[in-house]
Amino acid sequence: MKVSPIAHKQACPLCQSLDYVIRTESNPARTIRHSEAFGKTVYVRVPAIRLFCMQCQCGFV
Ligand SMILES: [Zn+2]
Repeated sequence: MKVSPIAHKQACPLCQSLDYVIRTESNPARTIRHSEAFGKTVYVRVPAIRLFCMQCQCGFV
């Protein structure tokens, strides 16, 4: 199952602001084991998007 983010950016985990956050690059999608559904184990393919807060100088995914 493939999923995608509903928002273009996420708030910085330090200052909680969206204003200084930029997207830097996208890493290859990660596969995450999610839960059981339909009697099978479900894995979701999640794009790993790198973001950077200009104010805190911190990068996060
Ligand atoms: Zn910040």
